[in-house]
Amino acid sequence: MSAFLLATDLDNTLVGDDKALDLLNQKLIQHRHKYGSKIVYVTGRTFPVCKQLARVKNLVAPDALIVALGTEIYFSFLDTNPNKEWSKILAQGWERDKVVAIAQKYPELQIQPESEQNPFRVSYYLAQWQKDKILSRLKADFINAGFEVNIVYRAGQDLEILPKNGDKGLAVKFLQQQWHITPEITITCGDCLQDKTLFNGHQKGIIVGNAHPELRQWYLENHNDSLYLAKAVCAGGILEGLEHFGFL
Ligand SMILES: [Mg+2]
Repeated sequence: MSAFLLATDLDNTLVGDDKALDLLNQKLIQHRHKYGSKIVYVTGRTFPVCKQLARVKNLVAPDALIVALGTEIYFSFLDTNPNKEWSKILAQGWERDKVVAIAQKYPELQIQPESEQNPFRVSYYLAQWQKDKILSRLKADFINAGFEVNIVYRAGQDLEILPKNGDKGLAVKFLQQQWHITPEITITCGDCLQDKTLFNGHQKGIIVGNAHPELRQWYLENHNDSLYLAKAVCAGGILEGLEHFGFL
C-alpha cells in the first residue's frame, strides 16, 4: 500500500449511496492518515453549491477542489479565492468580453444567472433540440475569430464556454504536478460522458456502476487495463475500483 491521488466527480459518483459513502470515507481518512493520500473533488458545481453538498453529505475535507467544470481550483473549503496559478493557466488566450460578444449574436442562447458565471466561465441555457445547429455555428465563429475555447454542452440545457485549458482532466494534471504525483498512482472517477476528460492520460479510471449509457458506450469503445467499469453504484463502485487496482 502507498499514497495515491483520488480525484472524483461528486453527483452520482461519490454521492448517491450514503451507506457506501460512509464506508469509503472511513477508508479514505485512514489511508490519508497512514500514507498521505490526496482526495480531490471534481465537479460542475460552483464553490458555494459544492460546499452545501459537502455539509449535507458529510464529505471528507478534501486536499483540493476542482469546481465549476475545472475553471476554479481551491485547496480548502475555507479558501476565499481560487488558486492564482491555475487562473494564470486559464487566462492564456482567453478574452471573456470577446467570447460574450460572439455568443450574444445568438438569440437561442439565454444567459444563466450571475451565480453560475465566473471570470473563466460563460454559461448559457440552450434547448436540446437547438443544440446541434447552434453548436456547429458557434464553433465555426470561434475558429473564424482565431479563438480557441472549450465548449461544453451538458445536462440537456447548459452551454458552457470555457478557456481552452478549462478542463477537469487538465486541472487534475495541474494538481499532479503541484504534488509530484505520477499518473500511475492517480485514480479518477465519474458517471457521465462529460467526465470522460478525467479518463484521458495514463491514470487509472473508475466508471461507477450507475454510469449513464453514453459513458458506458464510450467505455465499450475505449476500454483498456487502466479503466474499470464497476458493478456497484456510486461510492460502492469507487471502493470496488480501488480494490480492483490494488489501492485498498
Ligand atoms: Mg456526476
